[in-house]
Amino acid sequence: MGRSSIDSGKKIHWFGAWTAIAALTILAMPGASRYFSVAAQSSRAPIQISVDMSEAPRHIFHAHMVIPASPGPLTLFYPKWIPGEHMPDGPISDVAGLKFTANGQTLVWHRDSVEMFEFHVDVPAGATSVEASLDYLNPVDGNGFSAGPSATSQVSILEWNDVLLYPAGSKSDDLTYVPRLRLPDGWKFGTALPDAKQQGNTIQFGAVSLTTLVDSPVLAGAFFRQIRLATDVKPPHFLDLAGDSAASVDIPAEELDAYNKLVREAGALFGARHYDHYDFLLSLTDHFFPNGLEHHQSSDNRAPERTLLDNDLREMNADLLPHEFAHSWNGKYRRPAGLATPNYDVPMKGDLLWVYEGLTQYIGETLSARAGTRSEDAYREALAATAAYLDYQSGRNWRPLQDTATAAQTLYLITGKAWFSYRRNVDFYDESWLIWLEADTIIRKQTGGKKSLDDFCRSFHGAPSTGPKLVPYTFEDVVAAMNAIAPYNWTKFFRDRLDYVGPRAPLGGIEGSGWKLEYNEFTNTHIQAEEHTDGTINFTYSLGMTVKADGSVLDVIPAMPAAESGLAPGMKVLSINGKAWSVDVLHDLVSKTKDRPATIELLADNDGYSKTYRVTYKGGERFPHLVKIDGQPDLLSEILRPLTTSTPKN
Ligand SMILES: [Zn+2]
Repeated sequence: MGRSSIDSGKKIHWFGAWTAIAALTILAMPGASRYFSVAAQSSRAPIQISVDMSEAPRHIFHAHMVIPASPGPLTLFYPKWIPGEHMPDGPISDVAGLKFTANGQTLVWHRDSVEMFEFHVDVPAGATSVEASLDYLNPVDGNGFSAGPSATSQVSILEWNDVLLYPAGSKSDDLTYVPRLRLPDGWKFGTALPDAKQQGNTIQFGAVSLTTLVDSPVLAGAFFRQIRLATDVKPPHFLDLAGDSAASVDIPAEELDAYNKLVREAGALFGARHYDHYDFLLSLTDHFFPNGLEHHQSSDNRAPERTLLDNDLREMNADLLPHEFAHSWNGKYRRPAGLATPNYDVPMKGDLLWVYEGLTQYIGETLSARAGTRSEDAYREALAATAAYLDYQSGRNWRPLQDTATAAQTLYLITGKAWFSYRRNVDFYDESWLIWLEADTIIRKQTGGKKSLDDFCRSFHGAPSTGPKLVPYTFEDVVAAMNAIAPYNWTKFFRDRLDYVGPRAPLGGIEGSGWKLEYNEFTNTHIQAEEHTDGTINFTYSLGMTVKADGSVLDVIPAMPAAESGLAPGMKVLSINGKAWSVDVLHDLVSKTKDRPATIELLADNDGYSKTYRVTYKGGERFPHLVKIDGQPDLLSEILRPLTTSTPKN
């Protein structure tokens, strides 16, 4: 059943004017001059777009557009910079069958020789529109984000930017699209798009701005469930589930309770909402790349098929919906000026991603515990695993955290683990968890417990409640808002942590919250869940390496025993001390080094040549945990305490 039958109260929102800050920032961007040299397009008639997903199970989406145009040159753009992905990863190479016609005549088209996302046609005399068709060839494997695999024989997600063109030089707010969608037989769907009218397999939606269209994916599938969450809360929230099996969408009552609570906890945290309705779109399939993409009134959450049924998968995805939901406030409503671009061809600047993504990481993790998508114990284990991983990250000795944000567009697509620690990846997520935790503890201490980061969220992201709206900010705005909650040298606090190059992660927040990071031989439950779900076997804190169950070396940490022996990513361990490779044998040998050093001989294959690597180590198995500091107030438990006390029925 479609959304229209449940919620008829949706309204179309025309996004408001740009603030002076955003306009100035855009003017300073590469490509801005071209953007502003084009006459205003706001008087354009709506563009009709029809997408046929009836062949989604064959990994092909067909799109047809009718674009109002006048005779003469017409330049059309395929979305390049994708909101929420912070990089120019529009899947241009997966576009096929491109064809333009006007008045029934096929038009010659050519691609810009520099800008690969730009297409030129000449509109013939007498024509009032151009018809454009294209096929989007949905990848069958790989790990792109929204441009990755998005269709199976049972479930599919449509991100509209994959299937459309728009007139170059226009603001996405100023273009109107009237979307129409065809689904495979018997599939149901969920989306934040308004005014859905379904007839058979075809759904006609109401007119929306291009901004709203690109911001409103559709999740559809054969096994589909839509559940209204927290029915006492307005505006309405829905959990839309589509998976590869009936069992995959059969959400246990306790998990559903946590999502009901998530809706309430987020409302209590921010004190206002900036959407007219919200859809958590959750696809459950092993054939998509697990990820989440935030939108203003929905989120595209992708998780393995058994996520709602398997405890390890639940732990690994405990912060998925909380994180993407928090983005509606932090990322969509409030957005760094450099990411608040007017359309999808103006480049984005990622320097404030440690706020956009980093604060969202902190809020999402906090909400996971407050709502109960994981227990407080599980939260602490996840925090310990994250802090330890960052503390051992060798790339921090050359790359400041700030650079991980600034260079995000070059880092996101690195998904292999080879030299991961030395490279340093998008640490502005996880390390900002530590930094914002520290900021929270400082506010609590500076104000004698009267204020917290929750107050910052309420002032920065909160009242008044509005429909979807974008309010950009700068670094200075963040500092000013922090100072308004608790005066402190926040500029120095953030810059010290963002610009630092050297060993050790910023652990001040853990210690300031009454806990410390310690290592012992007992496994960390989060690391164990990761091992069970993704197959990464973690010897990071002992030998300084991660391996697969088959002996493939995923990564080594420079200057730690495995790397010192000469082992490197890409090698495959064949035997240990002369015995055939097995993870258990390695665990046994490492555990025996607790009190006395040993040299473990690993015979490894390196591209067809084998050699013995001697790893000398003492210290036994080591896994990170948080341990309470005696006599210090437990601020962490205070931070994780739910804000809502009553527990209504759902
Ligand atoms: Zn995010």
